[in-house]
Amino acid sequence: MADDSLPDAPTTDLRPSTVAVTSGRPPHEVDQPLNTPITMASTYVAGGDREYGRYGNPTWQAFEEVLGELEGGRALAFSSGLAAVSVVLDLVGQGALVLAPDAAYQGSLSQIADLEMRGRLRSKLIDIADTDAVVAACDEDVALVWIESPTNPNLDVADIERICAAAHEAGAYVVVDNTFATPLLQRPLDLGADLVVHSATKYLAGHSDALLGALVTRDDELFTVLKQRRDLLGAVPGTLEAWLAVRGMRTLHLRVERAQANATELARRLGEHSAVERVRYPGFGAIVSVELAAGALAADLLPRKTRLWVHATSLGGVESTLERRRRWKSEPTTVSDALVRLSVGVEDVEDLWEDLSRALDGLTD
Ligand SMILES: *Cc1c(COP(=O)(O)O)cnc(C)c1O
Repeated sequence: MADDSLPDAPTTDLRPSTVAVTSGRPPHEVDQPLNTPITMASTYVAGGDREYGRYGNPTWQAFEEVLGELEGGRALAFSSGLAAVSVVLDLVGQGALVLAPDAAYQGSLSQIADLEMRGRLRSKLIDIADTDAVVAACDEDVALVWIESPTNPNLDVADIERICAAAHEAGAYVVVDNTFATPLLQRPLDLGADLVVHSATKYLAGHSDALLGALVTRDDELFTVLKQRRDLLGAVPGTLEAWLAVRGMRTLHLRVERAQANATELARRLGEHSAVERVRYPGFGAIVSVELAAGALAADLLPRKTRLWVHATSLGGVESTLERRRRWKSEPTTVSDALVRLSVGVEDVEDLWEDLSRALDGLTD
């Protein structure tokens, strides 16, 4: 019989590039589509696990399988990165203390500040790259340590392993926003983190066309609680967005590899340009921040002088974008006024450099 001749899918541990391409597929059976299709359904025939569109969707599940396998845990998809962030912050007890970076993604910090203002929690902001200071701050009072690494947009790197050990000693949970590194460059659960948060809007989806978030954990109890919160709060993704993210992740390893190679080269050349006072690049990933010698005005001007690089917020797409972060009122003042964040894409690095260096030269004209 034809069915009997189909080999089973491999069950051994596959390497990340192979996982990115093959995970989240339908069963390997005759006439099944190769990839999971978009399922538009608000309800299902009763009696199963899904029942209703807010409780589950086969296309979300495909996304969750790919990301879960890449991070080494179980994933849950959310409508955006910030929806996932809000579910995590919702877990901490009334009045609990959250330790968080003093410079990180403004949306996460704004949520913490908003909750603090309304008396829901307390926060202590610290330099997340100063490991000794973070470890010292991990006392019994702390309920949750919020790590972002590398941070947006200062690109500070946290010692996740040491911080996790200290936090757990104090009885606190640790969450790591892994948006910038992606699971290909950093797997926080392996380093001891309880929870990983993603803005899948960025590298995972990777084409600047979808908003999506995710949480990943290895702890089954925590997973159940998070799933309950998603069911209850309703911050669920659209099926098209989940499908776009799976489609995006099929090439995640290729995009990250190319964008990182471009970023490494551009960071080196930017360090030699006289208009640049400081390059912030942690040596991996594809975000490079520069602080311009001529200050905030020059930083405002630079994105208007490039042709190939698009002046736009967000990051992690195949296309190169840039912006002065402090143009946003909500950006923490721990970020330099003269900082321009570059999201390096997968174009030819020489074209990117020609455009960028010409724009930088033009600042002093
Ligand atoms: C963009 C971003 C978020 C928020 O994700 P959205 O999908 O825009 O809601 C969270 N963390 C980091 C590091 C980000 O860059």
